[in-house]
Amino acid sequence: SDRTAASIRRIFMDYFIRDCNHHHVRSSPVVPFCDPTIAFVNAGMNQFKSIFTGKQEPQYQNVVNSQKCVRVGGKHNDLSIVGTDGYHHTFFEMLGNWSFGDYFKEEACELAWKLLVDVYKLPSSKLYVTYFKGDHQLGLEEDIETREIWKSLGVSSDRIVPFGIKDNFWVMGDTGPCGPCTEIHFDHKTAQNRAQFVNKGLFDLTELWNIVFIQYNKNLDGSIVVLPNKHVDTGMGFERLTAILQNKISNYDTDNFSNLINAIEKISAKTKKYKGNYGEQDWDNLDTSYRILADHSRMVTACLADGMIPEQNQKLRRILRKCFTISEDVFLKEKGLLKELTNYVVDNLGHTYPEMEKNISHVQQIIDYEEEVFKSLRNSAQRDWEKLIKEKSQLMSLDILEAPSLIPAYKALAKMEPKEISGDIAFKLYDTFGLNANIIEKLSHALNLPFDKENLQNELNKAKVKTKQLSVSDNNKILEEFIRNCLPITDDSFKYNFKKLDNMYLF
Ligand code: ATP
Ligand code: MG
Ligand code: MG
Ligand code: MG
Repeated sequence: SDRTAASIRRIFMDYFIRDCNHHHVRSSPVVPFCDPTIAFVNAGMNQFKSIFTGKQEPQYQNVVNSQKCVRVGGKHNDLSIVGTDGYHHTFFEMLGNWSFGDYFKEEACELAWKLLVDVYKLPSSKLYVTYFKGDHQLGLEEDIETREIWKSLGVSSDRIVPFGIKDNFWVMGDTGPCGPCTEIHFDHKTAQNRAQFVNKGLFDLTELWNIVFIQYNKNLDGSIVVLPNKHVDTGMGFERLTAILQNKISNYDTDNFSNLINAIEKISAKTKKYKGNYGEQDWDNLDTSYRILADHSRMVTACLADGMIPEQNQKLRRILRKCFTISEDVFLKEKGLLKELTNYVVDNLGHTYPEMEKNISHVQQIIDYEEEVFKSLRNSAQRDWEKLIKEKSQLMSLDILEAPSLIPAYKALAKMEPKEISGDIAFKLYDTFGLNANIIEKLSHALNLPFDKENLQNELNKAKVKTKQLSVSDNNKILEEFIRNCLPITDDSFKYNFKKLDNMYLF
């Protein structure tokens, strides 16, 4: 198809900005500011949270954006499945439009439907919509209004499917703005009715667009309270949309990823090529490794370009180390593969997110440093590990891959001679040595030291709140600087709207 990813993104923006009178708002960084409830920005709506909760007045009532999202932790965590399917990523772009107390259900559904069917020309015979069927326990009613709206837009009844809390009631994290949602799903394979397979995890019938009707806030105690206004919050997976419009089932077969896959093939010439046999068993796991590395290179570039620091973010560090391991073990490239891939990430995304292009040398420096630290740790760890398990055979039950962080952690622990792994100690193991709760638990079993995961969780919560409690004005300063650094945007299509690009909501 002649539709490039860039043109697909542009059409989305043009539709909302030009035809539907929305204002463009920049993507926020993937680092959440002033929000201890999440570790990474996981949706387009994150930066609008305080507008939803009524703490901040919106500058514009209707906005549109494409948000850099990361889903590797918390309520929305896709890390373990990334690479095993073709449509979940650790980093992805979420296209969205918003109404802050302005239009609501009817217009939101119509705007989305017309874009997909009239502008992008998707056959309605391949689309399904879902709506919220209600929840007695929570006292939430079936969203009949939305069902009827879809009918009036011409969707046949047998393609309108109800679902419960899990699929059709969106919450940002454990707490935060929430509401019933209605979603549009796409069948890659056939125009026959397969309504019973919607939301069943099929790789060729996938969710495309979520339209959330924000009306509530979920509190820490689980209670759901009504917000002062009603809002629309939508999110469409850009990589999934691209796949559909380029007639591909897997996102990895589109131009959002093909240069990354090609680069891995070229740089690791000794390895077999990417088969891309999507949906068939990946016997040797080679294709999965291709997908993981291509995916993670985007995530790493986005996080580092936004100023995240691996030393302070163990999730990010683990993902970096996974990339180094795959590069070496699968693609037989001892050094520099991930770093090289970040150039291709910038080729794809640098126009839309200029901070990636601007900060690329910083990104690559950190990758170099992290790779070096990891390699030297691993080499010495291998030797130390063998010595250690001779002395302490209980430790054999732990995975040697954990050795680089486990050995220094064990040594520090041995010095302390504790009677238990208290919350304090566990936090140190986590924060200083990078052990996660599962590994600390295994370690506690091996060493026969009592350990309660909950104590660690309490410490983590305390620490999160402490580091995130910048004042709002500090926070806005950081963001203002971020915006200044990012401009100007060079993409011609955005020029007419240049002024509007300057603004991004401040938390
Ligand atoms: P799924 O059910 O496929 O996991 P979701 O319901 O978790 O998706 P939402 O929270 O509703 O996703 O996010 C809005 C949209 O973002 C989805 O409709 C989808 O197109 C896209 N999306 C969600 N998670 C991912 C991901 N990990 N990678 C790529 N796109 C995603
Ligand atoms: Mg999901
Ligand atoms: Mg879903
Ligand atoms: Mg969804």
